[in-house]
Amino acid sequence: MYDAIIVGARIAGATTALLLAQRGYSVLLLDRDRFPSPTLSTHLFFTDTLSAFARIGVLDRVLAIDAPRLRRLRFPYVEAPFPTVDGRDFALCIRREPLDAILVEAAAAHPGIELHTGTRVTGLLRDGLQVVGVRYQEAGQAVDARARIVIGADGRHSLVARQVGAQVYHAVPPMFAWYYGYFRGVPLDDPPSAFAVRGAYPEIGAEYAASFVFPCDDGLTLVGFGVQASAFPAFKQDHRKHFFAGLAQIPQVMERIGDSPLEGPILGTGDLPNFLRVPVGPGWALVGDAGCHKDPHTVQGMGDAVRSAALLADALDHWWQGAVDAQTALAEYHARRDADLLPMYEFTTGQLEARFSEEEWQAFGRLTWEDPALARARVAAMAHAIPPVEVYSEEAIRSILADR
Ligand SMILES: Cc1cc2nc3c(=O)[nH]c(=O)nc-3n(C[C@H](O)[C@H](O)[C@H](O)COP(=O)(O)OP(=O)(O)OC[C@H]3O[C@@H](n4cnc5c(N)ncnc54)[C@H](O)[C@@H]3O)c2cc1C
Repeated sequence: MYDAIIVGARIAGATTALLLAQRGYSVLLLDRDRFPSPTLSTHLFFTDTLSAFARIGVLDRVLAIDAPRLRRLRFPYVEAPFPTVDGRDFALCIRREPLDAILVEAAAAHPGIELHTGTRVTGLLRDGLQVVGVRYQEAGQAVDARARIVIGADGRHSLVARQVGAQVYHAVPPMFAWYYGYFRGVPLDDPPSAFAVRGAYPEIGAEYAASFVFPCDDGLTLVGFGVQASAFPAFKQDHRKHFFAGLAQIPQVMERIGDSPLEGPILGTGDLPNFLRVPVGPGWALVGDAGCHKDPHTVQGMGDAVRSAALLADALDHWWQGAVDAQTALAEYHARRDADLLPMYEFTTGQLEARFSEEEWQAFGRLTWEDPALARARVAAMAHAIPPVEVYSEEAIRSILADR
């Protein structure tokens, strides 16, 4: 009998496990993958994630990886320096293979956490409506384990969410398909920045395309190219050809890459649905992509995962300390998670923009370029250095427009 069983040991699962174990709770952490291993994801992360890494005791190891400290965000709709949080004023872009390995190793080293990798969870154990544990496959054997809570940190296709029938809300169909590869020796900006530019790739019907350039670890630069979702079927027919043909139409990126060689494959996906799931129920909770998935173009996934992990660990602690009952604690997590995620989720998915006329939204965009303080606030909100609702809400934007 454990306090928590966590399915999925990457950023959401390992962070939740460490936050619980640090408070003295016992955790069984299971993942079907073995580590180090890559996962399909680019990996820019902001100061909120760095603060979470400090809290779970892995920041020194993350900072020891040789990766440029990115001081500015230069996106099509905003340019500003990253905010300073806990004395750190930079973002990082570290491949998931070394990054996730640090998290998993830290979890494995904690005496309160029992980690099993190469272990697939196949189902949930129940007592009536209450989830009481999991069944997993290990070395060809089915093993049952029980806990006070089963946490699905098992990504957007979460088995836990499917088995409990977690309700989906605020769903928005996929918006873009994103592909990426690593180039060696691409020169850095001064100061180093994460930059993205808009383009188009009309040859396959993509009036909207974009490319991003994120300098990362090991002398590599992550270069991405994406198209609107309707062009994904044509793109994936020959994704490598379309990746390079699309990039060729974005001169800022081509000039930057120059003769730098590509290392490894071009990877990507258009399987990028946008949704929130009800993240709690009797004996279970969801964290990370299992509970909320969104298109990565606003770079929220990893930060959302670590902040939700902290909210969930706090709520479980309240329950297990006897301050509140289970239902109240889980409802508290649900409410606080949504308050935290929704402003950027609505910006990411275009739901915020839809509340404004085209002229109003364009005026908000223009003001961002005219007013460096607004640009800084927008980047600070993306990094959750200030509550995103202070910029990315209908009320905030109406007030910004009224003051112009
Ligand atoms: C193309 C792309 C680009 C992205 N770029 C960025 C970016 O630049 N910055 C950013 O912040 N976010 C980005 N994201 C989002 C980011 O990858 C996710 O938000 C983040 O990885 C979520 O972490 P997680 O721990 O919730 O889930 P995951 O990383 O999906 O981990 C889930 C884990 O659960 C395990 N698992 C699943 N089912 C089972 C089972 N039945 N039994 C045992 N184990 C199981 C899996 O093996 C996996 O290790 C991107 C995503 C994509 C797809």
